[in-house]
Amino acid sequence: MTDDLGTRPASPGAPRSAEADTDVVVIGGGVAGLVAALECAKVGLRVTVLERHDRLGGCVGRIELDGLTLDSGAESFATRGGAVAELLTALGLEADIERPDPAGAWLVMPGADGAADAAPMPRTGILGIPANPLGDDVRRIIGWRGAIRAYADRVIPILRIGRYRSLGHLVRSRMGRAVLDRLVTPISAGVYSTDPDLLDVDVVAPGLNQAMTRTGSLSGGVGQLVEARTAGSAVLGLRGGMHRLVDALAAQLDRFGVVVVTGAEVASLQRAPGDAGFVTLAGLAERSADEAAEAGEAASLTVTSRYVVVAAHAEASRRLIAGASPGWAGDVEWPAAASVELVTLVLDAPALDAAPRGTGVLVASGTPGVTAKALTHSSAKWPWLAAAARPRHVVRLSYGRAGAPNPLDGRSDEEVAALALADASVLLGVPLDRTMLRAAGRSAWRDALSQATLGQRDRVRELEDLLAEEPGIEATGSWIAGTGLASVVPHALGAARRIRHHAVGPGDDA
Ligand SMILES: Cc1cc2nc3c(=O)[nH]c(=O)nc-3n(C[C@H](O)[C@H](O)[C@H](O)COP(=O)(O)OP(=O)(O)OC[C@H]3O[C@@H](n4cnc5c(N)ncnc54)[C@H](O)[C@@H]3O)c2cc1C
Repeated sequence: MTDDLGTRPASPGAPRSAEADTDVVVIGGGVAGLVAALECAKVGLRVTVLERHDRLGGCVGRIELDGLTLDSGAESFATRGGAVAELLTALGLEADIERPDPAGAWLVMPGADGAADAAPMPRTGILGIPANPLGDDVRRIIGWRGAIRAYADRVIPILRIGRYRSLGHLVRSRMGRAVLDRLVTPISAGVYSTDPDLLDVDVVAPGLNQAMTRTGSLSGGVGQLVEARTAGSAVLGLRGGMHRLVDALAAQLDRFGVVVVTGAEVASLQRAPGDAGFVTLAGLAERSADEAAEAGEAASLTVTSRYVVVAAHAEASRRLIAGASPGWAGDVEWPAAASVELVTLVLDAPALDAAPRGTGVLVASGTPGVTAKALTHSSAKWPWLAAAARPRHVVRLSYGRAGAPNPLDGRSDEEVAALALADASVLLGVPLDRTMLRAAGRSAWRDALSQATLGQRDRVRELEDLLAEEPGIEATGSWIAGTGLASVVPHALGAARRIRHHAVGPGDDA
């Protein structure tokens, strides 16, 4: 590893820290860091990426199960803004972009008889908020009484001056509890792992406040946004899995001579003496200083650079930025990340051939007998996976909400597989047992999912104001850009372009 770096070992003998010098250091090898690194390298800047794990990609990962290579994290991207599709096209993956099966998702909810009930999720809405509260599909879930309360939104004038901030408060006050509990909360839990009361409307539904003002109602505003969505699918995937994006980015980084160091956890970031750039210190791999000395290897790496892109998670990023910005104590309150775990099951279950619950299932809170918060029937959702897995089925269940311990914490793999099978049986409405299970895998994301919570805009603005005063340092990644590849990719491009602009001038900024 140190050979690739072209580094100079410090004086012979222990303890050793390899040293390197570059134009740009990127801290964090998730999609944000990789995109920023590539964008800088394209104009000839020398770039080093430091990633603490032994693989790149962060939340976009892979898991091998029963001979199948599957996504262990992100499995799709939102088409909004077009940045992800553009990136995939630039990486030569355009032909492999795939639409999900149009069957749509279902909702499982508490039924009248104390058992779980299930119905297809209404198709026209945003974050579960219906554009047509009286539609058959909406009434099937919230009943006539809930639908009539929701319809009141159409007739009660919007008296409020200024914008709504809390998604939960907005939905409850305009459409009532049934819409909130049955339709909006399950989606908030599935996508953001967060209660809708804590979600910032402007972050999770940009433009909704304005559309409401124009149309005079929440359902009218939702309808307008739904109409404005470009025709076609709101999410797309990649044949073979989203993790191929990471492989393609890594190949391009290699082509542009970017130095990628995995197993390098950045511990500190400081300004170089005389303000001549930055000094980044990373611990290397999982060796102690003594073990490394014995093996004749460096235990740490010190990189000096003119520019730094901080693209780790919220906590590490804020600590590192504070180290390089003595004027900032890093004390802006930042919400803790949600602890999420996915359990993927490969099943021999012909009863699933008919995709009884479409492409997946969301879970309303209080549903009896279910611990998972959502299930994706991956082999029903993605045609490429259906073909690769046939006759087997792949389902993945997701566990964990913000602000609460993950329900899988402390459980053995055996226990988790049994729980996931039981949950999948209820959610898919098909009896599933151990004999049908070919393989099960767990993917834990303990500090990965940032929150779109109230006040996020202000927190981000404060950080951006600080960084504007700190030339040479950029921050990117979902903790600041927002959750999801459609938010992360354009933000990372923006960060890299500011560095390019600074380093090589506007002429090369195309
Ligand atoms: C289970 C799950 C499913 C998801 N599904 C989707 C989906 O279907 N569609 C979608 O668009 N989005 C999805 N997302 C969200 C999306 O994956 C993320 O928003 C995006 O990948 C975040 O990229 P990032 O580079 O900002 O952060 P990350 O991917 O978290 O990368 C940060 C990187 O920094 C590294 N790092 C941290 N600290 C240090 C340090 N001190 N030194 C060096 N390196 C460090 C980490 O190891 C990590 O590799 C999902 C997320 C999860 C967790």
